[in-house]
Amino acid sequence: MKLRDNHSGDASPTPDDHIHGRGLRMTDQRRAVYDALMGQRDHPTAVEVFMRVKTKMPNISLATVYNCLETLTDCGIIKAVNHDREPSRYCPNLAEHAHLFCQGCGSVMDIPLRSNRRPQDIWDLPEDVSVVQHEVSFRGLCPKCATADAADTPPDTQKAPRTRSK
Ligand SMILES: [Zn+2]
Ligand SMILES: [Zn+2]
Repeated sequence: MKLRDNHSGDASPTPDDHIHGRGLRMTDQRRAVYDALMGQRDHPTAVEVFMRVKTKMPNISLATVYNCLETLTDCGIIKAVNHDREPSRYCPNLAEHAHLFCQGCGSVMDIPLRSNRRPQDIWDLPEDVSVVQHEVSFRGLCPKCATADAADTPPDTQKAPRTRSK
């Protein structure tokens, strides 16, 4: 199997490089959308990004924010995170990570891979499989909700890993 290795080389290209590589420009709007994602890494939806960007760019429209998010996603600068039938959320963390969807407060947490581990070290993929992208999601409770819940239910009963490979 083959997987794109995100760990090779730390001199990673900047978001501007990615945009330019596609023959596009980092417009003020695209940058504002990207900065909103970097400023508060809580996996906001497009509407939430719109509300944040609007405070700095009152004239920006929701349609423009959708377009910017799509362009940034296409260029590989951010990732769209999909869960069930909820609206897509957006994540600027390009390191390999899974997401924990909290059933208590609805938050989405990044779960990093342990250092020096690659997905193929963990998942028993057949040799002849070629993986382009993989997504792992956990459903459970974030630390805050788990602490609040600990008095009522025994821990670790609600964690169910879910894997989705494309
Ligand atoms: Zn929570
Ligand atoms: Zn994330």
